[in-house]
Amino acid sequence: MNETFDLVIFGGTGDLALRKLYPALYLAETDGNLHASGRIIAAARQQLDDAQFRAKVSEALKRFLPEKYDEALATKFLARLTYFPLDVNNHAQYAQMKRSLDERVSRTVFYLSVGPSLFPAIIGGLQAAGLNTPETRIVLEKPLGRDLKSSREINEVVLKAFAESQVYRIDHYLGKETVQNLLALRFGNTLLEPLWNRTWVRDVQITIAETVGVETRGEFYDNTGAFRDMVQNHMLNLLCIVAMEPPSSLDPDAVRDEKLQVVRSLKPWTAESLREHIVRGQYRGGTLAGQSVPAYASEEGVPKDSITETYVALRAEIANWRWAGVPFFLRTGKRMAERRAEVVINFKAPPHSIFPGALNPNRMVITLQPDENVRLYTMAKAPGDGMRVREVHLDLDFKDFFRERRQDAYERLLLDVLRGNPTLFMRNDEADAAWRWVQPVLDHWQHEAIAPIGYTAGTWGPPAASRLTAKEGTAWHEETSV
Ligand code: NAD
Repeated sequence: MNETFDLVIFGGTGDLALRKLYPALYLAETDGNLHASGRIIAAARQQLDDAQFRAKVSEALKRFLPEKYDEALATKFLARLTYFPLDVNNHAQYAQMKRSLDERVSRTVFYLSVGPSLFPAIIGGLQAAGLNTPETRIVLEKPLGRDLKSSREINEVVLKAFAESQVYRIDHYLGKETVQNLLALRFGNTLLEPLWNRTWVRDVQITIAETVGVETRGEFYDNTGAFRDMVQNHMLNLLCIVAMEPPSSLDPDAVRDEKLQVVRSLKPWTAESLREHIVRGQYRGGTLAGQSVPAYASEEGVPKDSITETYVALRAEIANWRWAGVPFFLRTGKRMAERRAEVVINFKAPPHSIFPGALNPNRMVITLQPDENVRLYTMAKAPGDGMRVREVHLDLDFKDFFRERRQDAYERLLLDVLRGNPTLFMRNDEADAAWRWVQPVLDHWQHEAIAPIGYTAGTWGPPAASRLTAKEGTAWHEETSV
């Protein structure tokens, strides 16, 4: 890192900052990737002094990075940190903040790690103090609105004060090594690209399954639901990376233009597809890892009669020459059987079999969570007499090949912001196109008061989700895995 910086984290005492942002920045420190005089300034409501704040961060580092914690490095890292008590609505305090930032020439990044309802106050404060200079960058955490209208309102506020090129809309899924490896696999090899289309791909499945429930965030979650929380952002971003055309270069806008084309090519929802191609679920009580867990409606902060979904599965289609007719199944849920995030490419079966027994079609599974690896399911001769074939796996486990530590998603993205590389961040036009595509679903659920279907905690979701894939002659990955 050859440029010094001031990174101001609004909401700097919050859960996200303590659990993800400081540990990520600490990891960047371990590799020497932070400029020696770079500073991190937390701005939040609590009345703390620097020492109290540093103690809080130190505790977070020990808790969230127990294996990586090193006293000397932590001391070096904590010395960068200062605390600025602030009520976001008090404009006079931004002028004070400016004075502390103006002392040195630096690149200033404002990270808004607060709920979007505070964005207008913060942006207004920055603007009033003249802190939104062209050299600054602003990072926005999800959720960026709860529908098309509110997301546009947020963007309008942001884009009145900052140019689009200064805005970094963060989606930590895009910071995962394996997601970028998808680009390397697709565009760094000749092997896959000829098969990556409707001629050879039968269906694509993208799953983000969690075993956790809503934890302490019941109230937040009940106003959001799985569809807004995961589909509009993370899942559509993954879909774009899987389905995009090869960009002409790794230039940020070359990549983001191709992602935008995918979102724009998603087949719009119809009355029929809203009825047939989307399953909304909510977990009931059940058992997970031998522990009984409560129903969603009994969670703290959740109304007993809530109709918020904790699970969604849908079939999407991309209306272009490469993908026409290929179902893209997306699903995400809480309290599912396993914690797993993966992309599955199911290839078509060989047109003719010369072997006795069934021939399993090839499948490529790109796992993002809990491990990051790629597995190719192929057919091989089973040992022994005769010419029987059996499924075998070709595993690509990156840690077997690369000795270097893989960067954490937030670490990579924060370094990208500091270096001014927006490739892995959502541009406004893409975010807007994503909201345009999801809005009819939200409207349909609201107007028709569509209640979610119950599923038992610890399972893979409602049986209706299996019918979604069965209608297309396919099945979810875990239903066919050996
Ligand atoms: P949190 O409630 O734990 O923290 C909120 C922070 O905002 C605190 O530092 C608090 O002091 C500050 N704050 C609140 N009101 C303020 C005011 N008037 N003036 C100054 N500071 C004020 O929230 P969180 O979990 O850290 O989440 C922050 C944002 O990031 C939310 O929009 C959340 O949806 C989003 N997010 C959180 C996570 C996560 O894992 N926690 C993940 C992705 C996105």
